[in-house]
Amino acid sequence: METERFDAAVIGAGPAGSWTARRIADRGYRVLLLEKRDRIGYPVRCAEAVGPRIDVERFIPLGRDLISSPVDGFLIVAPGGQRFEKRMPGIGFTIDRELFDRRLAEAAQQSGAVLRTGHQAMGLTNRDGAITGLRVKELGTGLEYASKASVVVGADGVEALSPRWAGLAGSFKPDEIFSCAQELITGIEITKPHIEFHLGSRFAPGGYAWVFPKGMDTANVGVGFNPLEARGKRAVDFLDTFIAHRCPGGTRTRLVIGGCDVARGLPALATNGYVTVGEAARQNNPFSGGGIINALEGAEMAAETIVAALRNGDTSARSLAPYTRAWRRSVGRANGAFYLAARIFFELSDAEMDRIMRRVVKVPGVFDEKGIKPVRMVMSLVAAEPSLLVKVLKSVAGRLLQPLY
Ligand SMILES: Cc1cc2nc3c(=O)[nH]c(=O)nc-3n(C[C@H](O)[C@H](O)[C@H](O)COP(=O)(O)OP(=O)(O)OC[C@H]3O[C@@H](n4cnc5c(N)ncnc54)[C@H](O)[C@@H]3O)c2cc1C
Repeated sequence: METERFDAAVIGAGPAGSWTARRIADRGYRVLLLEKRDRIGYPVRCAEAVGPRIDVERFIPLGRDLISSPVDGFLIVAPGGQRFEKRMPGIGFTIDRELFDRRLAEAAQQSGAVLRTGHQAMGLTNRDGAITGLRVKELGTGLEYASKASVVVGADGVEALSPRWAGLAGSFKPDEIFSCAQELITGIEITKPHIEFHLGSRFAPGGYAWVFPKGMDTANVGVGFNPLEARGKRAVDFLDTFIAHRCPGGTRTRLVIGGCDVARGLPALATNGYVTVGEAARQNNPFSGGGIINALEGAEMAAETIVAALRNGDTSARSLAPYTRAWRRSVGRANGAFYLAARIFFELSDAEMDRIMRRVVKVPGVFDEKGIKPVRMVMSLVAAEPSLLVKVLKSVAGRLLQPLY
């Protein structure tokens, strides 16, 4: 069989891969979009919160069929039970994530990308130090084949292998991935369309438990925690404890278990003939673990650079480097601050959290219409607990010695 040839081959039809594929195909280039699952977006491994509307609608119209519930504020419950509530109309939505991912993949196809579900990338092909394509397996038949591409895009999500194949990333350290478990619960009392965050080592050590409303009496209820602090307990054990506390009478309808990247960003996002994007590129917000919009933003930047490189007939690391720089200057910079905020906040003991939460939540400017402002968050933590300054300085010094973003 003659080896097929594309301008770009994209691994993974999540938000990052579908949007990159669409934006490259839009300019008339031949794009292959590979997805190992048979059904795009299924099973859903997400709490399904996005926002605000203006950020989402840069990429996809938020029709009524996509929206499960508006989100117009948040509730934070400290380990000792104190509650901090803030109304923030328009801050976001919960969505139907499976439909969301499917729409993005369909849009890529409509732009001309060739979508193959049930096809798994098995490795990259190289020549003279440059990536020249990939090896693919059709999972239904076991047939293996090679595809050539001027650029391969690794958008293979939290379980990504392609950044390792390309030499851009090592494996995750255990505390760089939140262990998560979530149930879609019906029959839960939702009095306001607020997203809830429950802190403390009982439900989610080194992370948080959440309730994200999906309707009047339905919500995604989950836990995400640092596995190094789990004391031998499994994600479902923490989830059971949280559900028994928050919604004991609810009916469990959809269990999700998975990891969520809260790592520092990668120092480089591109090499000769290859770029990585989305969660594969560690573009999630390292404080919340959220990453849908970041994946789309990263995809937009990656596609811009790839299109310019294809136009110039040069897909070397140098030609693809503007993508890394664009990311670092924008979302990557904010993520650097979020990483610092997370390192400080999620390492607090329950007693420390109880003591300082009241003051942090009241500092003006920590929360704005897009969520947490990370630098203000760090400043407010230090103002509430000056001894944390040592930790901040150590962390900043560490960053200077090993500059990433
Ligand atoms: C429990 C949980 C809750 C979350 N809640 C939220 C939330 O509320 N809001 C938010 O913004 N983010 C949330 N996230 C994070 C969010 O899901 C990710 O940031 C987002 O999915 C990243 O998109 P992506 O396209 O980079 O990766 P993915 O959506 O993971 O897509 C990657 C795709 O690549 C495919 N793939 C992998 N390897 C291969 C291969 N070798 N060949 C072919 N295909 C391959 C996978 O099957 C997958 O479809 C949550 C994550 C978890 C685990």
